[in-house]
Amino acid sequence: MTLDISFVPAAHPRSDAELAEILANPGFGTHFTDHMLTVEWTPEQGWHDARVTAYGPLSLDPATAVLHYAQEIFEGLKAYRHDDGSIWTFRPEENAKRMVGSSHRLALPVLEPDDFVQAVDELVKVDQRWVPEAGSEKSLYLRPFMIATEAFLGVRPSEHVTFMVIASPAGAYFKGGIKPLTLWLTEEYTRAGRGGMGAAKTGGNYASSLVAQQEAIAQGCDQVVFLDAAEGKYVEELGGMNMYFVYADGHIVTPATGTILEGITRSAIIELAGKAGHQVEERRFSIDEWREGVASGEISEVFACGTAAVITPVGTLKWEGGEVQGSTEAGPLTMEIRQALVDIQYGRADDTFGWMHQV
Ligand code: PMP
Repeated sequence: MTLDISFVPAAHPRSDAELAEILANPGFGTHFTDHMLTVEWTPEQGWHDARVTAYGPLSLDPATAVLHYAQEIFEGLKAYRHDDGSIWTFRPEENAKRMVGSSHRLALPVLEPDDFVQAVDELVKVDQRWVPEAGSEKSLYLRPFMIATEAFLGVRPSEHVTFMVIASPAGAYFKGGIKPLTLWLTEEYTRAGRGGMGAAKTGGNYASSLVAQQEAIAQGCDQVVFLDAAEGKYVEELGGMNMYFVYADGHIVTPATGTILEGITRSAIIELAGKAGHQVEERRFSIDEWREGVASGEISEVFACGTAAVITPVGTLKWEGGEVQGSTEAGPLTMEIRQALVDIQYGRADDTFGWMHQV
């Protein structure tokens, strides 16, 4: 807790009536809270000028480095309101550590995990009325990010960097009941190669996923599955979620390749499922194992996981010239793990793992 954060309140915060209307149907990523948090960095001064101010547009020189070379990283986590009105985030220090890893890969300065957590807490405290009521499966999505803000067109690490946190209320992900996703296997595009940026949470990875996602939608699918770049043989992940495969004998496999973005939800599931007595394997997992396992019934459930949806069942997998049909309903273990996680996040179950952080 070393940031000295100043506060200039918004002159025109949303009225209670406006806020109530937004929180009744927040959607995702379209409404933003009244304030934002900003911290600046230079090599001489380190992190300085931390402030919470009214939410609003940034004024950037057109030569600002991030606009040209995408030296940028971000995180995503949520704040949940519990029945007693208290507000909690889920494993924020894990997001902080992942951002340190992303900083190293993108040659950005390191924001110490304690400072990251302090910054996120501060914005949530200031805009606490934006955290939706308990019992709604709504939450306040938090988006910390770090951008290269030096106005300079040379290709080298920026000597002015800005860290910010913004917040946006998020609705329940599944409104019409939980329905399995249909996935499109891209054999043309890859997300990350050896030595690339796959394990970092950086905008370029998402930019490169968009055309594959467009292809998935054109094929009538919900999301795209990426394979490893070297051999095109091993399952990596979706554009924004990690994958899990549940075998009928009770063991569970999640891909580990060194080039995926290791989710905080993914790691929580490893612990939860392990505690529930399931053997969990983190290993390379081939696309043939998926196709054959589902076709033979050896694999009984497939699901994807991430902060936004927590856990989403996966049904059919399609590719150019074929498909394997999975379940049309969410599997029992998928739903059991989902419920266990959501109950911890919303304070309805004991936090035996010590995952929740009170704001
Ligand atoms: N993979 C990718 C590419 C992602 O963007 C995300 C979302 N952050 C995840 C996996 C899931 O990570 P988490 O569980 O930390 O949200």
